[in-house]
Amino acid sequence: MNRKLIGALISVTLLSGCQSLQNSFTNDEGNSSKEQQTSEKQEEKNGQAADDVLTLPAQYFNQIVETGGKKVIQNSENTLVLVNKTYYLSDSYIPSDLVRANVHYSFGDEQIEKALLRQEAATALEQMFNGAQAEGIELYAVSGYRSYARQKVLFDAEVQQHGLEKAEEAVAIPGQSEHQTGLTMDISSRSVNLLLTQEYENTPEGKWLATNAHKYGFILRYPKGKENITGYKYEPWHFRYVGKEFAKTIYEKGLTLEEYFNVVKEI
Ligand SMILES: [Zn+2]
Repeated sequence: MNRKLIGALISVTLLSGCQSLQNSFTNDEGNSSKEQQTSEKQEEKNGQAADDVLTLPAQYFNQIVETGGKKVIQNSENTLVLVNKTYYLSDSYIPSDLVRANVHYSFGDEQIEKALLRQEAATALEQMFNGAQAEGIELYAVSGYRSYARQKVLFDAEVQQHGLEKAEEAVAIPGQSEHQTGLTMDISSRSVNLLLTQEYENTPEGKWLATNAHKYGFILRYPKGKENITGYKYEPWHFRYVGKEFAKTIYEKGLTLEEYFNVVKEI
């Protein structure tokens, strides 16, 4: 009896956990349209233009096809592509313009996949590293592009070692890693021995990145306190290229990429 009750309580807790997550997404969308209506009403009242309504052309939104229960992105080359625990990149997606950036890498001159970024992101990364250096901040690129095949190798190894459940917590499922976009770079510095660690947020380099990356078109993709929205723990080293204009908006409004897509209006 007791056991049944406990079982029932646990399943209620788990379900409501999932539901509240889903609801919060639904509510976000609902709220934004309500807010929009309200701001439109205020606009009518005040006769002012609504500068605060963010708009975005349709091409920047994910175009999705559902395959085998997975939401697979069709327009993967979109620089604003939203890859997360809901939206997958195709197993065949390889960016067509991958290049090595002219920056310092934690692994030196080795010619390896993770040195690569898409052309536009690589140029922006070079500018960011040069900008940092001019202010006495030394940055190292640690891990950029990661192919679906490489992610699968990493994931399968983790499953073998620790089981599926633990693997899913620790390593992105193939197709769900933002590194496959070629728009993401993990960055570190000597102050933390070139490691990817949360300690990075307390270093001059980590602080510089957190407050300056947007000027070069990068956003801190997995911020502290937004874990339930991004689905990932705080990663002060993981920077995603979105372009200067969008990075500025996302930074100034204090949004994650997920939240940004919840508030922008498609035009
Ligand atoms: Zn990363």
